[in-house]
Amino acid sequence: MKPVIKDLLIERMQILIKNAVSYARSNPELAERQAALSKRLCTKYRIRMPYELRMHFCKKCKKFIVPGFTARVRIGRSNLKSIRITCGFCNHTYRKIIKKQIPIGQ
Ligand SMILES: [Zn+2]
Repeated sequence: MKPVIKDLLIERMQILIKNAVSYARSNPELAERQAALSKRLCTKYRIRMPYELRMHFCKKCKKFIVPGFTARVRIGRSNLKSIRITCGFCNHTYRKIIKKQIPIGQ
């Protein structure tokens, strides 16, 4: 597949997810549909979803989750810098390890 098409698809998925997140509170059904659509795009064209989009789907129950609404995001307490995302539907927790130091106050 041409890289241009891939970029377009990713952009489209980003728009869909962004819309889905903003509709999650007011119109959960629409949000669910938009999320499913973006997921179908990546399975149909066999492209890897960027992490920032993938984090909106639970790894266990595959449901669309919104951080701060149907998912909890916490900072890991160990020395390893990580965030923990807890799905609000199945309570599955997964960690994302942050490799790079986040510059604070720059
Ligand atoms: Zn889940």
